[in-house]
Amino acid sequence: MSDPVRLKGVAASMGVAVGTARVLAWGRRRISFRRITQGQVASEIDRFRAAVAASHAEIEVARQELAQQHGATYASILDAYLLMHGDALLIDATCDTIREENINAEWAVSRVAERLKAPLLRDGSSYFRERARDVDHVKEHLLRELCGEDRTELPGQGPVVLIAHDLTPADAVQMLAPPTVGLVTEVGGGSSHTAILARTFGVPAVVGVGSVPIEIEDDQDVVVDGFGGQVIIGASRRERSQAEARRDRFLAFLDAERDRSAVTLDGTSISVAANMELPSELEAALASGADGIGLYRTEFMCLNRPEPPSEDEQLDIYRTIAAALAPSKVIFRTFDWRRDKRPAGFDMGEDQAGWLRTQIKAVLRASEWGHVALMFPMVATVRELLDAKILVEQCRSELGERGAPCASLQVGMMVEVPSAALMAEGFARHADFFAVGTNDLAHYTLAVDRHGNQASAGANPLDPAVLRLLERTVRAAGDAGIPCSMCGDMAAHPLALSLALGLGYREISVPIRLLPLARAVVRSVDIELAGPLAHDALSCESAEDVRLLVTDRMGEGFDPAWIRQEAV
Ligand code: PEP
Ligand code: MG
Repeated sequence: MSDPVRLKGVAASMGVAVGTARVLAWGRRRISFRRITQGQVASEIDRFRAAVAASHAEIEVARQELAQQHGATYASILDAYLLMHGDALLIDATCDTIREENINAEWAVSRVAERLKAPLLRDGSSYFRERARDVDHVKEHLLRELCGEDRTELPGQGPVVLIAHDLTPADAVQMLAPPTVGLVTEVGGGSSHTAILARTFGVPAVVGVGSVPIEIEDDQDVVVDGFGGQVIIGASRRERSQAEARRDRFLAFLDAERDRSAVTLDGTSISVAANMELPSELEAALASGADGIGLYRTEFMCLNRPEPPSEDEQLDIYRTIAAALAPSKVIFRTFDWRRDKRPAGFDMGEDQAGWLRTQIKAVLRASEWGHVALMFPMVATVRELLDAKILVEQCRSELGERGAPCASLQVGMMVEVPSAALMAEGFARHADFFAVGTNDLAHYTLAVDRHGNQASAGANPLDPAVLRLLERTVRAAGDAGIPCSMCGDMAAHPLALSLALGLGYREISVPIRLLPLARAVVRSVDIELAGPLAHDALSCESAEDVRLLVTDRMGEGFDPAWIRQEAV
């Protein structure tokens, strides 16, 4: 037996997974070139058309499964793939290539796909890179059909660890479901939206591991360590059973902590709300005892859709969630359309304004059904916030003219751009609340591309520059008497959370699955100690110095049992 392959990447979703590899062949598949005779052209085209039909049928089934699981709105992420099965530029062009160049269908479809992708990749923006991935996705489906691969023969029954170059968020919604228990990607950062979805689905993930050796095959045993960012492919029996024990300890820890309180050692109560991306999380949100929803990322309903859902379709989703969680508060964030979250194929300019109005109206109408708040992402100037508030009032009066009832609601903003944190005092005069997005704030402050490769791990929210912005924001909110929560990933990280509490944060919002962990960390913190510690951290020179300072000073008191057991 050959030696195990050990890879190191960014720990993107906590937990340990043990399963069999399923290597997604995108970009790795080797296909053969075959010249065909003129007499074989018709049957080769028939073979290709049959593959198109079979692939379409397979994606249609997946779409129905998604609809059942997450609702019809979210199932439409696969519509773009279905549409491409009738696309002249891909399908007809492949038939033409078979006919004109006398080559086999596998080679022809690959060549056509490469031609389609070239201008998308040349553009360089991650938006067009995602569209190129859509082309790859469909090409992969077609190749699988052409090569006669039976998906049921893949290790689809037991626990599966997906190994991919990258996953789009749309792929992630579809694939991070049982039997998938773990995810490994060659590229990507810890706060990419695919990583967010891994956390949503509770799938341990390591991203940005660099090139996975081409010899890795589907049936190998894989261990994914989502705490330390390590992956072992071809793990020994001993490594597997050790990993299984660690996996079970963490799950038991989450289970045991499920119903415990969020009060610090000195008796300070902390509000721990949940982040949500999909309506299918509602049951888990209710069961978790979360103090409301601190961030509902609405843009996930637009993944790969040509345009967002209608006002009524959105209302349906918002009011279901608001009513179920009432009287707890649900904060709906308007679509955050950047990079990998944008709808497919649309110019964001003019359409975006109309879509925003539609969305605001749906949220305003949903406010009749529960305790609803509206939040704007990526606000960079006070003018933008004031314009957003004017828009809300315009939408409210348009609804009034239509006779549609809507309750009053708070309008707040994400603080996730450095300018917003620096000008927090000014924003606090106009916003009803702040929610701090540490993911973007860290990346923008430290000039690291959030959607880039391994480098994304470099945007460390423990960096003193980020901590200073966090301190400034919570202080400004306190002075103005408005709530200020933290809903970025920092709030779910034990060491960082203890600092946030020390800086004065009393409301946090974390992925549902990590609520028990966040509460346990809260219970292990003494604000009397964490306060001075956090303020000393502001004078450190680096994130590493901050980390050492915290571990040195908080010691055992901060270190809940699972960290001692699980840290790598
Ligand atoms: C953030 O930036 O921290 C945040 C919570 O928003 P998102 O991760 O959706 O960009
Ligand atoms: Mg953000």
